[in-house]
Amino acid sequence: MQRRQFVQTLGAGSAVAGLGLLTGCASIGGKRPQVVVVGGGYGGATAAKYVRLFSDNGIDVTLVEPNANFVSCPLSNLVVGGHKTLADITVPYDNLARRHGVKVVRDMVESIDAEKRTVKLASGATLPYDRLILSPGIDFMWNTLPGMNKAGAQDKVLHAWKAGPQTAALHEQLKALPDGGTYALAIPLAPYRCPPGPYERACMVASYFKVAKPKSKVVIFDANDDITSKKGLFLKAWSDHYKGLIEYRPKHKLVDVDAATNTLKFEFNDDFKAGVANVLPDMRAGAIAVKSGLATANARWCEVDFLTFESKAAKNIHVLGDAIQIAPAMPKSGHMANQHGKTCAAAVVSLLQGKEPPQQPLYANTCYSFVTAKEVVHVASVHRYDAAQKTMVTVPGSGGLSSAASELEGAYALGWANNIWADMLA
Ligand SMILES: Cc1cc2nc3c(=O)[nH]c(=O)nc-3n(C[C@H](O)[C@H](O)[C@H](O)COP(=O)(O)OP(=O)(O)OC[C@H]3O[C@@H](n4cnc5c(N)ncnc54)[C@H](O)[C@@H]3O)c2cc1C
Repeated sequence: MQRRQFVQTLGAGSAVAGLGLLTGCASIGGKRPQVVVVGGGYGGATAAKYVRLFSDNGIDVTLVEPNANFVSCPLSNLVVGGHKTLADITVPYDNLARRHGVKVVRDMVESIDAEKRTVKLASGATLPYDRLILSPGIDFMWNTLPGMNKAGAQDKVLHAWKAGPQTAALHEQLKALPDGGTYALAIPLAPYRCPPGPYERACMVASYFKVAKPKSKVVIFDANDDITSKKGLFLKAWSDHYKGLIEYRPKHKLVDVDAATNTLKFEFNDDFKAGVANVLPDMRAGAIAVKSGLATANARWCEVDFLTFESKAAKNIHVLGDAIQIAPAMPKSGHMANQHGKTCAAAVVSLLQGKEPPQQPLYANTCYSFVTAKEVVHVASVHRYDAAQKTMVTVPGSGGLSSAASELEGAYALGWANNIWADMLA
């Protein structure tokens, strides 16, 4: 959303002069309002930048993020398949500070004091806030896979479901696999981060094997009853490009892993010993949200008011991105997290001005998946706020699927990535 649109959404009664756009506007305790954003991923980086833009730099924003640079999960399967490098999917945080005046602090938030409105950092520092925005992404429920808690297990059997060192390490494991060896991918029960992501990963590994290790095989063990996203398009890609190379086994719920032997153990099916085992464990909101008591849905996801993203469990704390309990049909995606970030930023600016937040958020989502190094398929949807149900609902007749994979969509997918990275970080 552009600033002009944002001004319009505040309504006819709010003249621009009345907005003050927070430049010199009334502020809490006579000081400039303070917003702290936790996590510089798709949701948090967007929210940090847009609170500055929407307030005409009238609100101080501090972004706390442990990583030196943003590394994108979207396109990271291309790195796993050897078609791109980590450098290709890495963007620095510099512009957030230089162009937008966001204070970027390289640290971890360890605890939140909702009463005092402060966060404590791993370095020991304390930051005060008027409004806190949490976008910590996901963490893994290792307790459901006892063998993965043994020393060294998580360094050997990788998830590569947070882009970074594990992404490159998984590609190295594939390179070290002898021709004829098997790569096994275990998918958890939905909901998990990026529904089509695992099937895209299978395509990318198979595209690598097809050229580098033609006797090797990809075996997908899915805890779900069936392919959870873009089913027809993935089945067509597997049959057109990877016949005999990809095997799909649904209803395989992983219950343990012997990392020493790369053995996957299932609830009802035989054990499977892989050359490379890639395990996506059950997921839940990032640890900071869980330990702060914000994950009120099954102790996994954070329930929020979809107009403002304010937590239902704590005042003045907003949660967004993958960490939230989604409305039906809303995917856990980077595109969604980016849209949450803007909606939340607009709401936070309004609330800090003592105004009503915009009442009609509308999100668009497109998830592209590479089925070969160049050909791509997409799924799209549009979601609007329903005031009666107080939730997001899909807009009838909106969205849809690609009719077929194409290189043109490959160009769109790369364009999408460059645009969204610029929207968040340029
Ligand atoms: C392989 C793969 C492919 C994908 N492909 C797509 C795609 O094509 N399109 C799409 O839209 N989505 C895709 N996704 C999903 C997308 O990556 C996520 O939905 C998105 O990253 C969610 O954004 P987020 O802000 O919630 O979390 P993240 O982007 O993960 O950001 C969370 C940030 O919080 C930081 N953090 C966590 N805890 C703390 C703390 N205590 N203190 C400070 N910082 C903290 C982390 O370091 C991290 O930088 C893909 C995901 C994967 C794994």
